[in-house]
Amino acid sequence: MDDEHGAAALARLNARLAPLGVAAEVRPNRGRSLVATRAFKAGDVVLSSSAFAAAIIPELAPLRCSGCFERSSHLMRCGACKCAFFCSKPCQRQAWLAGHKRCAVSLYFVLAGWGGRKNLEQSAV
Ligand SMILES: [Zn+2]
Ligand SMILES: [Zn+2]
Repeated sequence: MDDEHGAAALARLNARLAPLGVAAEVRPNRGRSLVATRAFKAGDVVLSSSAFAAAIIPELAPLRCSGCFERSSHLMRCGACKCAFFCSKPCQRQAWLAGHKRCAVSLYFVLAGWGGRKNLEQSAV
């Protein structure tokens, strides 16, 4: 990206951010940064966004749902990857459709090797 195009993109972004009281800047040695353009009080929500991606750390996998991250004592182990746990079938289905399917397939092949493909396809149906 050349400087002229980058400056135009930054100006467009800042036009959208201005009503929120923040601005994007490119700072030497820090890259693109978000800075406040008005005073905020402690506890104010400055920006809110859905997570682009999320994962539970392996130590917490048996304790928290890999879909909604709620703690539960009645988690069901994922039949495909055997590593993720879910609080309910709807939660597992939502995670599966949101991308767990790709993670489970990759993990399965790493753990079981390519010879396990037929079993994976059967469990993923
Ligand atoms: Zn859940
Ligand atoms: Zn899984």
